[in-house]
Amino acid sequence: MSNSGKAEVLIPRSLCLIEDFDNLNIDLEDLCSISITWEDGFVSELKPIKNEGKKPENILFPRFVETHSHFDKSFIWEDFPNLESNYRGALSVNLEEHKTRTKDKVLERVEKSLKLAIKNGYRAIRSHIDTYKSQSIDIWIELFKLQKKFLSELTLQFVALAPLEFWDTSSGEELAKIFSSRGGILGGVIVPPFNKKDISKFLSKMLLLASKYKLEIDLHIDESIIEPGAGIKVLLETIENLQINSIPITCSHLSSLISLSHHEILNLGEKMADKNIKVIALPLTNFWLLNRDNKTTSFKRPVAPIKQLQKSHVDVSLGSDNVQDPWYPFGNFDPFYVLSCAIPMLQLNPWERMTLSSIFLAPSRLLNLKWDGLIKKGCPADFVILDAQRWADVFSCNLKRKVFIKGELHR
Ligand SMILES: [Zn+2]
Repeated sequence: MSNSGKAEVLIPRSLCLIEDFDNLNIDLEDLCSISITWEDGFVSELKPIKNEGKKPENILFPRFVETHSHFDKSFIWEDFPNLESNYRGALSVNLEEHKTRTKDKVLERVEKSLKLAIKNGYRAIRSHIDTYKSQSIDIWIELFKLQKKFLSELTLQFVALAPLEFWDTSSGEELAKIFSSRGGILGGVIVPPFNKKDISKFLSKMLLLASKYKLEIDLHIDESIIEPGAGIKVLLETIENLQINSIPITCSHLSSLISLSHHEILNLGEKMADKNIKVIALPLTNFWLLNRDNKTTSFKRPVAPIKQLQKSHVDVSLGSDNVQDPWYPFGNFDPFYVLSCAIPMLQLNPWERMTLSSIFLAPSRLLNLKWDGLIKKGCPADFVILDAQRWADVFSCNLKRKVFIKGELHR
């Protein structure tokens, strides 16, 4: 199969770097008409299309990056439904599922999720994997084998999602040691109500472990409606007390922050930016699970305050979170499903640079990928090309897409 080709397409202006900028034809929605050529899997030429009368019939995006998912429990909704659809129900069904969990079941879910994600246009994914003391370490060896098996098509990162105290046990230390040679991220949950002293103690142990083995941390934090920002405040205090600044930290969710005052959000945002803490906003699960009262409809839905955090120079990514499990019953590893829900929900204009940054560029930085996601000469020919001419087509239900991986059409 050929890994070279040529196409006339529309590309969002802030996603492409082109030398001949002055001759660009840019439409109302900031889409530029471009002729793109790729050879041997890499972009070899980008040229503005001069003919003003004729608009290309396809929109090209770089392949997508998913910053936050849970492959180990995807598609279990049928066997483990949470019909009340609240956080408490999700957690209790999740723990029920652990009792029947086997290595093979997890691997089957991961492989199914991966194949769908690749077909739908992802190039990299970070997935959390539930981790607990009674679990055998074998699962990790198999997960790393899958990571290798799919490497030519997708970059896969794993976070061990464990209770914070797990990182203060010998099993925690053993896993951190394995991660230091094989890759892997330390994960945990900080959601109020909690005992501040205990959280701070275990968080310190976790930070020191990450520092010892040079690992990253990704926390589910402040995924709640109560005690706004309680988790992030403890985290910032703990980092301050330990005086370690070198650990890359991601805060997933941070949804309760939205209940703080504008001034408080900006203030916390500045402190986070100063510590280089990155944020993942996860609107779908948050809007579905939190502040639920089945008798009334509430407008009050917590989600990370994306625009305020970006204003404070925090690098914010969008993620999708759960797929057909007790936490969220819908989705199928399709970036366009996530965007069709999230963009109107969050009032993010897709033609704006900061929106596109949270979808493509910030996620590439978060996963520390070799390619930043900008379409430019020399970048990988990793595209999703849609039959579309405007943003309304992108968020329509009958989307026709072609996925190119290293210049080759994926079938
Ligand atoms: Zn999650």
